[in-house]
Amino acid sequence: MHALKVPLVDLRTQYLALKPEIMSAIEGVLDEMHLFLGPELQKFERSFAAYCECLYGVGTSSGTDALALALRACNIGPGDEVITVSNTFIATVEAIALVGATPVFVDIDPDTYLMQWQQLDQVYTSRTKALLPVHLYGHPAEMEPILDFARSHNLYVIEDASQAHGGTYQGRRVGSFGDIACFSLYYSKNLGAFGEAGVCTTSDPVLREKMCMIRDHGSRVRYCHELMGVNARLDEIQAALLQVKLPHLESWNAARQSHAAFYSEHLLDVVEAVPIVRSWASHVYCYYVVQVPERDQFRLALEKEGIGTNIHYPTPIHLQPACAAYGYTRGMLPVTEAVAERIVSLPMYPELTPEQLELVVAAVKKHIVGNVSAV
Ligand SMILES: *Cc1c(COP(=O)(O)O)cnc(C)c1O
Repeated sequence: MHALKVPLVDLRTQYLALKPEIMSAIEGVLDEMHLFLGPELQKFERSFAAYCECLYGVGTSSGTDALALALRACNIGPGDEVITVSNTFIATVEAIALVGATPVFVDIDPDTYLMQWQQLDQVYTSRTKALLPVHLYGHPAEMEPILDFARSHNLYVIEDASQAHGGTYQGRRVGSFGDIACFSLYYSKNLGAFGEAGVCTTSDPVLREKMCMIRDHGSRVRYCHELMGVNARLDEIQAALLQVKLPHLESWNAARQSHAAFYSEHLLDVVEAVPIVRSWASHVYCYYVVQVPERDQFRLALEKEGIGTNIHYPTPIHLQPACAAYGYTRGMLPVTEAVAERIVSLPMYPELTPEQLELVVAAVKKHIVGNVSAV
C-alpha cells in the first residue's frame, strides 16, 4: 500500500522519538531473563493504578481478557445478564459471551454516542448482574446516574475504558468509578504496548486478588490451582515498554485535544456533527469522529487525497452475525443504527503536524457533498 500523507494513525514517529529508551527497556528485561510476573509488571501495575486514582492494577494479555477477567471476578456467568451498548468494539460483548453471560443492549445518546442510561430501567431484569458502560472514542460515559442505578439495584459496574486512558469525569480519571475498569493496551490506543496487552484497575483488594489468580491459571502458589483459570498474563517486556510510555500519556492526550480543537474550529460548520464534549468530561480523542452525508463516497475522495479515515464502527454489534442468537433486529436500537451510517473517524494521533491538520481540513471542506463554503 502506498504511504498516505496523513494516515489515520502513525505509530512510527512516536516509536522513533522513544527508541533509545525502548531498546534499553527490552534489553533490561532480557538481561534478567525474568519474563513473566516480575518486577516490571509490578511497577507498571502500581504506576498505572496511581495514574487512574485507584489502588490496584492487574496487567493482562489484552483488553478482551481484561474484560473477561473482570466479569469472572464478579462471579458473572451463565444465566446472568450484563447491560452494555452496541456502539462499541466487539470485544466488549465478546467478553460477556466468553464468561457465558448474556449481553443486553441499551441505545446511545445521539450527541455523545455513549450509553443512554435513561433506558437502563427498560431492560433491567432479575437476571441483570452488571452494567458495562464504554467510554467510547475517549469521552467518559455519564457515570453518576449509571452508578446510582447500580447501587439501587445491587449491580456491579465494570467500565470499558479501552479508548479513554486519562479521560476524566467530573474531574476524576476514568477507571476509578466502577468496581473494576478494563483498559486495552493494544498498540493503537492512547496508551499502547508493542503487541497485545491490557490492564484492569480496582480499589477492591478481593477483586484484585481474584483477577490475579484467574489470569495465572487460578493459582496463588505455583501448581496449586484453587479455581479454574486462564493464561491471561501481561509479559515483562510489554510491562517495561508501557512504563517508558506512561509518563508521556498526559502530553500525548493534550496534543490530541489540541488537534481536536483545531479540527472542530474549522469543521464546525462544514460537517454535520463535530464531537460534543459534556461540561463534566474531558475527552481524550482516541478517535475524532464526525458525521457526514454520503460517507462512503467522502472516504474514497479523502483516500485519493492521501488521507486515511475509518469507521468506528460500521455495523453495530447487535446486528453482527455473531450476535444472532441474542435476537436483536434492525430497528431495536435506532440511534445506534442511524449514526453507524454517518460517522467517520479522521486522522488522530499526538504527532500530527500543523501541515497535516491543514491538509485534512482542506480535504474535508473540498469533499463534503453539498458544502457551500467549499473552496
Ligand atoms: C480495543 C478495545 C477493546 C479490546 O481490546 P484488545 O486489547 O484488542 O483485546 C475492548 N473494548 C474497546 C472499547 C476497545 O476499543
